[in-house]
Formats: sequence, C-alpha cells, structure tokens
Amino acid sequence: MSTGTEQSKAWFERAKAAIPGGVNSPVRAFNSVGGTPRFMVRGEGPHLWDADGNRYVDLVSSWGPMILGHAHPAVVEAARAAAMSGLSFGTPTLGEVELAEEIIGRVEPVERVRLVNSGTEATMSAIRLARGFTGRSKIVKFAGCYHGHVDALLAQAGSGVATLGLPTSPGVTGAQAGDTLVLPYNDLDAVRKSFADNPGEIAAVITEAAAGNMGAVAPDEGFNAALRDIAHEHGALLVMDEVMTGFRVSRAGWFGLEGVAGDLYTFGKVMSGGLPAAAFGGRADVMAKLAPGGPVYQAGTLSGNPVAVATGLATLRAADDAVYAALDANAKRLGSLFEAALGEAGVAHHVQYAGNLVSVFFGDRPVRDYAGAQASETWRFPPFFHALLDGGVYAPPSAYEAWFVNAAMDDEAFSVIEAALPAAARAAAGAVQ
Ligand code: PLP
Repeated sequence: MSTGTEQSKAWFERAKAAIPGGVNSPVRAFNSVGGTPRFMVRGEGPHLWDADGNRYVDLVSSWGPMILGHAHPAVVEAARAAAMSGLSFGTPTLGEVELAEEIIGRVEPVERVRLVNSGTEATMSAIRLARGFTGRSKIVKFAGCYHGHVDALLAQAGSGVATLGLPTSPGVTGAQAGDTLVLPYNDLDAVRKSFADNPGEIAAVITEAAAGNMGAVAPDEGFNAALRDIAHEHGALLVMDEVMTGFRVSRAGWFGLEGVAGDLYTFGKVMSGGLPAAAFGGRADVMAKLAPGGPVYQAGTLSGNPVAVATGLATLRAADDAVYAALDANAKRLGSLFEAALGEAGVAHHVQYAGNLVSVFFGDRPVRDYAGAQASETWRFPPFFHALLDGGVYAPPSAYEAWFVNAAMDDEAFSVIEAALPAAARAAAGAVQ
C-alpha cells in the first residue's frame, strides 16, 4: 500500500538545487515517464524501500549488478571484512588477482584482465587498445547499443540517450564522432559494406553481445559469428561488450550461451557485486600492448579497489548453477505474467528475451534493431510503468531498457507483480498517443 511520495518529492526538489536534474545518471530522473523519482533508502532480497516507507519489488536490480538480490549476506560480509582491512592501498592486492582469475576461469576467450571502475571506462580502454593494437582509427558500432558515455561511442546510443531522444551529445567533437561508423543492429550487409568502404581503416567492431539498451534485442542467429569473421577477414578486432550480459545470462555471460569468441571483452555490473568495479580483457597478445608491458596507456587510482573486488568475488562465488537457473526461471515467469495481462487487456505487444534479460515492446512487430524499437508504441509505456509503481513494482523508468530479474525473487514477490499487472495492462491499453 502506498504511503505517499512526500519525502521523495521533497528530496527531489532539494536534489535539483545541488545536482543537475537532481540525479547522478539521467534515466533515474523519470523524464520519459514523468512523476517523481523514488529516493530509495534500503534494499533487501527482491525489495527496495523508498524514503516514504513504500516497498517495491525491484525489477531494475541496480541496472543489472544485483543478481543475488539486495544486501545478500555473503556479499555484505565480504564488504565488511575487506573494509576492516583498509579501504584502498594503491598497490597490487591479492583479491584483484583472484577476481581476474575468476573471470578468466569463466569466459574462455579471456586470457588476461585489467580491472577498472565503470563499464564506460572498460569500453573506452578497450577501444583505445584496439586502436593501439591495429594502428587504425575507425570503430564500427550499432545504433541502439550503449557502451557507456565514451565520447566516440555516444552516437545513436541506447539507454538514457535513447530515453531522452538525443541523436548524440553536444560536447562530442566532430573528430571524436567522425571515426565512429554507426550501423543498424543485426544488419550484416551494412557491416560488409562498411568494411568495403573503409579498407584498412577499421580497428574494431564493438557490439553488445546481446543488445539490452534498446530493450532486450537478441542478435539474429549467426550475427555475432559473422561479425567476428568479417572483422578478422579485414584485420580488425571484435569487442564484445558484456557489461550487461556478463555473468548474468549464464556463468560465462552471453559467450556461455552462444560460444562466439570475441578478441576483447568488457565487463561491469555483476562482477562488481554492486560497488564500482568493471573490467576489460581478452586475447593475451592484444592485452600485452597495455602499459606497463606495452605502449597503450591505461591506469586508475582506485582500480582493483579491495572492497569492490571483495563484493565482486563474493557475488561471483555465490552465483552457482542454482542462481542461474533461478534467474532464467524468474525471467520466463515475469514474461508469462506480461503476456497474460497484456493479452487479457487486448494490447498488441511483444515480450522479448535476450537470455534472461526481458522487455516488453508495445505494437504489432517484434523488434530487431533500433529503428524497430523507436517505431514501437513507446507512448503506452509511461501509464504502464506508473500503474506498476502504484502497485509496488519498480520497473525500469524507460521504454528502452531491459528488465533485470534477480535470484531472490520469491512467490510473494511474483504475487505482487501479478496483482499489479492487470491495472498496468489496462492503463497501457487506454493510453493515447
Ligand atoms: N556497456 C553496456 C552494454 C552497458 O549496458 C553499460 C551501462 O549500462 C555500459 C557499457 C556502461 O557502464 P557504466 O554505466 O558502468 O559506465
């Protein structure tokens, strides 16, 4: 039962006077759905509580990291124990070696790993390394894929850039954007043409291993394998961005489901356990070009932070087969509830999956690229979202985001979702453009 939103409203006003837009990451501001962002004060298991005392079933899971649910005892204990031994040393530590080994042990094509602090830093560094390794400048990316707010990768990006309807961003210079070739997702002819038009100039293709930032859009069968083959034929690298899918859609991420090896990988979210940590890694010969062994510079004061490393390791160690089975089952259960409620309300929709990432697209057609996502009936999303929120379900506040289940979701959590969905489906059905 809602206890109102007075506290969140008051904190949002206060936040806007101190922080641009009142938030530290744009989608949190609820711009595309309207209303007051909820200021959360506590999380436990599948639930979040806001400053007014409302409880929500959380289907955002901090945008991916919290696969075990919130405040998992083993992860919290790992953070406590690490913090008791000191918060940061700026030296090599034991834990960072163990985390690198854990990642290498899970994702076969990854032979070496460098830890960084965010997914953005991971993709930025991977791109620099690909350019340094090949001696080439250009990068191919796909419209609707988001790789963090790296200057060169913001063009036609998904996630918040899509949510806010921005073509790209002021502040990114022509020179930074000019070396980025943006192609439609799932379009191999466009990839072949791009390589033919830019002979010897493309350093790398970067792709989300499965797209999650325009909603969940899985790659067509054979798309990633063909990307790798085309890139290699032309002496370029394939960078698989698994920041979202990594260690979530299987213990080895999307690679574990598909088996297509990239040359470089980027990771974040789950491997951090919820603290700021991320990584990039891949072929040993490519990673050998990084400083201090090689000439491509990359560094970080807090990289491999001992507390973040401890929570990441604790999360990965707790993420056993049962956790992955629960994530998959919970995604399917959520999708079935969407189907039932939206079907009952008579709203045309497509529930799409990319592994256990889920999203709902309104409209007649399934979505396989960014143009398709933009052509879907996104105007049905805000009333759908708000009816869920009123019913105690915290959904991603944008039509262009995937929904993230966690393994802590239980029957009670699903009963809250099931109870909230009919009103949400009716609100979507009654929405006007
Ligand atoms: N790459 C992908 C696929 C992402 O989904 C994200 C963030 O959502 C990033 C990179 C950037 O990660 P971060 O927000 O940690 O900078």
